[in-house]
Amino acid sequence: MRAMLLCQLVALLLGSSVQLGAELQAYQTLRERVMKAELTASLGGNLWLSSDEEKANSILMNAKRAEIAEGVKNPEKYAPAMHFFHGRQYARQSEVFRIIQKMPKGAFLHGHNTAMVSSKWIIQNLTTTNNLYTCRDINGVLIFTYKANDTMCHSEEQNVCTERINAEDRNQYERQLEKHINLYTAKPETLLVDRKKLWQRFENIFTTVDRLYKYQPTYCLYHKRLLEELCEDNIIYAEIRASLSPLYDDHNRTYSALDVANELERITEEFKAKHHDFVGLKLIYAKRNQASEAQMAERLKTFKQLHAAKPNFIIGFDMIGNEDSGDSISKFLNEFSDMPSTANFFFHAGETNWHGRSSWNMMDAILLNTKRIGHAFALPKHPQLWSTIKKRNIAIEVSPLSNQVLGYLWDLRNHPATFMIAENFPIVISADDPGVWGAKGLSYDFYYAFMAMAPAEADLRFLKQLALNSIKYSVLTAQERRKINRVFQKKWREFIANMLNPKFN
Ligand SMILES: [Zn+2]
Repeated sequence: MRAMLLCQLVALLLGSSVQLGAELQAYQTLRERVMKAELTASLGGNLWLSSDEEKANSILMNAKRAEIAEGVKNPEKYAPAMHFFHGRQYARQSEVFRIIQKMPKGAFLHGHNTAMVSSKWIIQNLTTTNNLYTCRDINGVLIFTYKANDTMCHSEEQNVCTERINAEDRNQYERQLEKHINLYTAKPETLLVDRKKLWQRFENIFTTVDRLYKYQPTYCLYHKRLLEELCEDNIIYAEIRASLSPLYDDHNRTYSALDVANELERITEEFKAKHHDFVGLKLIYAKRNQASEAQMAERLKTFKQLHAAKPNFIIGFDMIGNEDSGDSISKFLNEFSDMPSTANFFFHAGETNWHGRSSWNMMDAILLNTKRIGHAFALPKHPQLWSTIKKRNIAIEVSPLSNQVLGYLWDLRNHPATFMIAENFPIVISADDPGVWGAKGLSYDFYYAFMAMAPAEADLRFLKQLALNSIKYSVLTAQERRKINRVFQKKWREFIANMLNPKFN
């Protein structure tokens, strides 16, 4: 009797385990399907990879998985979960970062010219002429000036060359000088206490270099370096925001906004002649977001003249500055109403943590037919806007490190673009002002987007899609588009071949 019961029990247990096994199997299949569906629907999820690209992808993903596994064990050394000022040293040691540096990244679509070049290079190369001075302005901000007895100076002027020669430690002197044009601090958490003060520090940097770049020879050297740094980071095209403020030179010539644009065009053409893979540079005329209606009307008038003179070089208009304290886009609806049909707006909008205040700038940007939107950090809070943006294919220029350094969030794993990535929004990754926080080109922003904002299993498809998006949402003629596609495809093939070549490692 006991033996029979035992047999029945065993049969029952076996039976239920068979049933449970089938259920578990179905459960597992369902889990995998859900995860696969999410990945396929996300940015890059639909991209097809060639067999060589698949092999390169395995190398990339082995490195990514190893870094994540190590990061889970030692989060205090895991750059993607850290503030950039803490994490940069670890990012530089990362294999994934090294691969991203070598990857062709397409176009740089959101950057402000005077904040794009590395601060270290500026100090070492643009402050060595013997006619350069520093002094403090009325607010105590250090400014560079070429003028002896500059009226902006409210302290005694110091000759930079003399100071450098007299310095006990030249490197230390240069590091001190660099601090005035770089936001870096070993304790970035202290910056977040007062965001207004942080923005003030950021804007002071532009005051510090303002007169340095008004001198035409320095302006030209600076912009040549800007193009070099783009190329060094495997970027082949850029659309940059620039104010085109007047310049002067040694012959007392004053350069108008159009003259400055001509200088930039000349520098770009000279650069292209030496770097055949560099496709070009275009300008977005960008002016402060604090103005009277009359002043804004004047800026628009200048823009229209510039665009009429160079329609394929000065391609659009934007307003810059802290959105929370600046004027809203809606203040200037009249002034913005008759944009030439060949020109575009590229508004900064939604770069805010204030829900329902300055975030409505995104609505006005859309209603004014903006070509792209800078940041749109507040987008997930506005479903009416995000559905329109998706339908109308308006690209969002996401600048992860800018948002972090300027204090909109601490941990990039919580960046609102995680939602845009999951929903395959038309986004591009950009760098905004890499030179003033120790980044260079797009690589660091791509790295953080890949490691902190995309899901763990996002792979080479994600990175390639970002590069393809940057080209797709650039403003190019048919001929330029053919060229950029050709150059990108060639560089991409080389990149994949190099990755599969053992020497690459
Ligand atoms: Zn910007």
